[in-house]
Amino acid sequence: PAADAALLAQVTCGDAVPRRRAIAKTITLLESTRADHRARADDLLNALLPHTGRSFRLGISGVPGVGKSTFIEALGLHLIGLGHRVAVLAIDPSSSVSGGSILGDKTRMERLSVHESAYIRPSPSSGTLGGVAERTRESLLVCEAAGYDIVIVETVGVGQSETAVAGMTDMFVLMQLPNAGDDLQAIKKGVMELADLVVINKADIDEAAATRARAQITSALRLFGLHGHQPHDDTVWHPKVLQLSALKSHGVDAFWQTVSEYRDLQTRTGRLAQRRRGQDEAWMWERVDAGLKARFRSHPAVREHLPALRDDVRQGTVAASVAARRLLDLFH
Ligand code: GDP
Repeated sequence: PAADAALLAQVTCGDAVPRRRAIAKTITLLESTRADHRARADDLLNALLPHTGRSFRLGISGVPGVGKSTFIEALGLHLIGLGHRVAVLAIDPSSSVSGGSILGDKTRMERLSVHESAYIRPSPSSGTLGGVAERTRESLLVCEAAGYDIVIVETVGVGQSETAVAGMTDMFVLMQLPNAGDDLQAIKKGVMELADLVVINKADIDEAAATRARAQITSALRLFGLHGHQPHDDTVWHPKVLQLSALKSHGVDAFWQTVSEYRDLQTRTGRLAQRRRGQDEAWMWERVDAGLKARFRSHPAVREHLPALRDDVRQGTVAASVAARRLLDLFH
């Protein structure tokens, strides 16, 4: 419809105030569960697509209290000072589990949020993690089309949300506190392997502890690296560890310097484009899988036979694989 064409024009080349409103409207449309809204959102998304892809997509994760919002505000203001426009999106995994929110409720990033070169959107508040991630991924495209050239996607260090964020960004940054307990957690959960860069925050509290943590994490990362590629190959990125203080804005410029080195290397070697292509395809399959499963579960014949077959499997009278085949045969 004509209204959506106007919306598209406002997102891609409007003046600041109507553009902000147009972005919010477009994202609201994307987040709607109404079928007619979804159809309009799909058309809009496709129309926006040629305007996307020009930003740098930065994922940031860490446990609650590590200093993510303090850091993102300091970084965002630094980047705006360099002439960038910054969008911040969030994936709050708690909302899909408990209906509550780890990231969303408090007033965050007060100085950044009022800046006209920044756009901050809280996490979509309901649905499965897959659904929340999908909305965020689409919002990221809207922000890119609106000319934000740095898009930060933030999440909390619980559950699968970190994998989701690493899967939609060009670089994944893990924030850590300067004590070893957290490092072991991250290693155990396999999150460390996702990290292109680890930052140890709050170095101002205990510089020595931060330095120790840095050495520990550096050697942990080196171990992961050995599984993959040659340690001295300088055409591949070797994950780095930095220590900083978000509160005092110490180390923010060094952080951005490192991100820029990463971005240059990944662009030069074609890995940035390759990563995005891989992400897009993986994402398509992820959504197909999720959609198929939802349709499967709501299929009338499947719903009719599922309870009995599930009981048979639980009681050991039908083999799990046989039950699965029977259910799949019912699903056309
Ligand atoms: P988030 O939950 O990860 O977003 O963490 P916040 O940014 O809300 O920070 C949690 C608390 O840690 C706040 O009280 C911050 O002021 C404090 N904080 C954040 N960064 C630093 C830092 O570098 N040094 C110190 N001393 N405190 C910090």
